[in-house]
Amino acid sequence: MDGSQPEKTQTAKEAGWRQSRYNLSAQLPGTNKTVIVNLFRGTCAVYSPVELYLLHELPTLDETHPIIERFSKRGLIVNFDELEALKLYGHTASAGLRPVSLTICPTMACNFDCPYCYENHSTGKMSQAVQDDVVALARRMLHTFPAKLLKITWFGGEPLLAPDVIEQLSQQLITLASEQGAAYQAQIITNGYLLTQPLADLLHRCKVRSAQITLDGIGSAHDATRHLADGRPTFQRIACNLRQLNLPFTTILRQNVHQDNINQVEPLKQWVRKLAEESGNRLYYYPAPLHQTTTSHPCSTPAKLLHRSASIHVSLQKDVESFAKGRGHYCGANLLSELCVDQQGRLHKCQTDVDKPQQSFGTAAKWDPASPIQTADNPDRLTCYINALPFNQPQCLSCIWLPACAGGCPNTTLFQGKPNCLPYKDVPEQYVMALYKHMQQSVKI
Ligand code: SF4
Ligand code: SF4
Repeated sequence: MDGSQPEKTQTAKEAGWRQSRYNLSAQLPGTNKTVIVNLFRGTCAVYSPVELYLLHELPTLDETHPIIERFSKRGLIVNFDELEALKLYGHTASAGLRPVSLTICPTMACNFDCPYCYENHSTGKMSQAVQDDVVALARRMLHTFPAKLLKITWFGGEPLLAPDVIEQLSQQLITLASEQGAAYQAQIITNGYLLTQPLADLLHRCKVRSAQITLDGIGSAHDATRHLADGRPTFQRIACNLRQLNLPFTTILRQNVHQDNINQVEPLKQWVRKLAEESGNRLYYYPAPLHQTTTSHPCSTPAKLLHRSASIHVSLQKDVESFAKGRGHYCGANLLSELCVDQQGRLHKCQTDVDKPQQSFGTAAKWDPASPIQTADNPDRLTCYINALPFNQPQCLSCIWLPACAGGCPNTTLFQGKPNCLPYKDVPEQYVMALYKHMQQSVKI
């Protein structure tokens, strides 16, 4: 004995530990266990009654109790303010080392006439002068941020109506990325109707590694909302393309789910799985619920929006797939390094704004991210999106879903005047169980 006193320890509470404000829980049916999801850290795990007891007794536990390290690794308990951390993530998202991401519309023309489309579909394609401006813009952006990755999304209109623009611009952008020491990655959003083997091969040469094609159902269910401008059906031809072509990229088959095609979710999912097996193509199903729609076409009829229970069901299916830790901003519209360029070289923060000159904030010819306000023609159209973070909305600040939701789509908040809440906001147990089942299937739990 050296006579010295044993070192005095504090309780966990005295040491600053408390339960996370972003824990959601649900009883695991048929057991005495509890599933707890932490939305800030992005964890989901099962806890025994003893662990649950220790979590509730946290304030009185000794700070050296071994469960503290385990809980804190999973984000169940914290010794800092997570809301302030989310604010920091959100406010500094544009300042970090991020990819430069450009959505480029080689043409705004389209061969389809979908009733829920929000575009005007002007004619023509991107001129050589605008293409040169786009490359110069990409150079300025890579230089300013400086980014290690240049990401391009080909969008429209229907981008395959202008494959020559895709080919020419890709060559220049790939060379530019290589000169600047950045990797290059591309994807395309197409309706899939014009896809042929030579075009698929061209896209592969242009380093397109994934494609998104919308199928709103099987056969006539698809044709009801995805028809040619003259009304003719499109399903058979797209299905043929997916079956017969050798697609050298991953293809996401997106269903815009509305009330009239909700019954297609399961059949289409199975159809895609079978077609992937039969064709050898990498095809994946992705449901995108239509909660609201903005349509600018004078003859168009908005799709019937999903009823609440259907909206919850489809949104849960989609969102558990992309479960991740909280990030403080919602989408690329909040970031200075992500832009959309339409065929005239006008710049927009959000894909739904392309082809609407009044909603553009500047031009590829002039805008420079090093002087983002001075070189913008309409700085307010830029700043409104960049600053559309959830921290100005009192209901978001106190909302348990904030890390996962980040205030919802900024476009909706800005132009419909209210945050676009998660459809399953009021049924957290359903979310917890859907996530648990998904993680089990993915062997992550
Ligand atoms: S603001 Fe909304 S509509 Fe626009 S890109 Fe973001 S999520 Fe999409
Ligand atoms: S938009 Fe709604 S669900 Fe999302 S954080 Fe804000 S209040 Fe919560």
